[in-house]
Amino acid sequence: MTNFIIVTGGVLSSLGKGITSASVAALLRNSQINTSILKIDPYINVDPGTMSPIEHGEVFVTADGGETDLDIGHYERFINATLSKRNNFTTGQVYQTVIEKERRGDYLGKTIQVVPHITDEIIRRIKAAGKDVDVLVVELGGTVGDIEGAPFYEAIRQLKHSLKGKLFNIHVSLVPYIAVADELKTKPTQHSVAELRRIGISPDMLVLRSEKPIPKDMRKKLALACDVELDCVIEAIDAKTIYEMPLKFNDSGLLKPIAAAFGFEELKPDLKEWKRLVKAIIEPQGEIVIAFVGKYLELKESYKSLIEALTHAGAHCNTKVKFRWIDSEGLENCDVSEALEGVNAVLVPGGFGTRGVEGKIKAIRYARENNIVFLGICLGLQLAMIEFARNILGIAEATSQEFVADTTEPVIYLIDEFIDQVGGKQIRTHQSPMGGTMRLGEYECNLRAGSKLAMAYANAEKIHERHRHRYEANGKYRERFEKAGLIVSGEAKGLIEAIELNNHPWFLAVQFHPEFTSRLQSPNRVILAFVQNAIAEKNRTSKS
Ligand code: GLN
Repeated sequence: MTNFIIVTGGVLSSLGKGITSASVAALLRNSQINTSILKIDPYINVDPGTMSPIEHGEVFVTADGGETDLDIGHYERFINATLSKRNNFTTGQVYQTVIEKERRGDYLGKTIQVVPHITDEIIRRIKAAGKDVDVLVVELGGTVGDIEGAPFYEAIRQLKHSLKGKLFNIHVSLVPYIAVADELKTKPTQHSVAELRRIGISPDMLVLRSEKPIPKDMRKKLALACDVELDCVIEAIDAKTIYEMPLKFNDSGLLKPIAAAFGFEELKPDLKEWKRLVKAIIEPQGEIVIAFVGKYLELKESYKSLIEALTHAGAHCNTKVKFRWIDSEGLENCDVSEALEGVNAVLVPGGFGTRGVEGKIKAIRYARENNIVFLGICLGLQLAMIEFARNILGIAEATSQEFVADTTEPVIYLIDEFIDQVGGKQIRTHQSPMGGTMRLGEYECNLRAGSKLAMAYANAEKIHERHRHRYEANGKYRERFEKAGLIVSGEAKGLIEAIELNNHPWFLAVQFHPEFTSRLQSPNRVILAFVQNAIAEKNRTSKS
């Protein structure tokens, strides 16, 4: 039978509930316990796919094409496993299922209510995610007391009842430091635990986010006030990198009470490799500067997976990857050579819509003409092709149908009736709504032998990477591109998946999102090659 660890949050958001959940799951997995992890989001959206990145951060794409919360990305990176769309659900999905059932007449004339119908559906989904594993870590989004969260807490209370001894609650809370009084304060945590208990859930463990170490007598006081054992009061002090957290939690003995609660033998996680990589992140030997040319820079969480993937690659090269954040819209009216002065590489990530596109094209042109190591991702590939078409092929009007729907030169275009290569079903027509109609999830890509891309993937012939886009490179222009030196180095069933330049140190762009498959222990190969080439070019040019 599955054991459940429910992670709830108190006082305020952004306390690191996601990292705590991911760390606990990572420690269990590294102790050979078959563990999976689920994120519940209490918002009404069916999935975050239609939300602005500036509002909600990145949309993380699972291999099976789910558009999920960015915490799923942390989970995959920490537990080094591939999750599915089943590992994230929202209030919107719960209600959608219940309402569909009601319309079908499945409830046989009953009145549909939050308790028991919505709570039953929540419990069904939690159990489904926990099928076939020994432990399921469940992170409940939001903070205890939120209106949206109420049905989820009630579902967990019921679950606790039916799963005696198989459910363990970790409550993540804040112990603020008041500088003028030079004091840490326990009251907010006491209040949030009181709120949790009012709902019928007693925490088994407290994880306390704090700027400073929490003295033992303060931990004793909290243990008493919140009715938990002293060894279950765990402090979480700000770390140099999020990857340090599993190590810190392990040192503070977090696994012991969990093992005792579930009747496991002593857990001894193997963290040797993890420790080595964390050390490389904290004390790197060298550094490079990458120009990150994006447009969602107000909220860096919009590029979470990519930033993490570059951190992983840096750790494997013992090099700190520093970013120069360049707002693509601002680049449109300024001197690009000044903005990119001295960088070791240029990165153009994915994006949607017209805003900032011309600035990105300027940066791409600069990298191409000045032999700067370049990686374009998704929109970055599309714009690299538009730039090349305009400035090398002389097609002045070259653009994407995303920006000019009726353009005469659709170098990037919308395939009218996109057929899912895997399922064989049509997933989009011109009239399709926005939600869930993109090319999503993992697809196969064939690599051109001898290309830079094939080299990045250790000369593999075939790779699998994840996608999230609506538009495609137009095959009609392919011959002209290749004649002029822009080579298609990755393709799949007639679709252009990757391009690169022949006469350039390293200029490569991919239609897929390599960042989604990068993990600390196994960095994504094309991102690793990008960092390695930036380091090599830095060393070469500084010598010459
Ligand atoms: N906007 C482009 C498309 O829909 C690129 C998407 C992306 O960069 N993820 O095809």
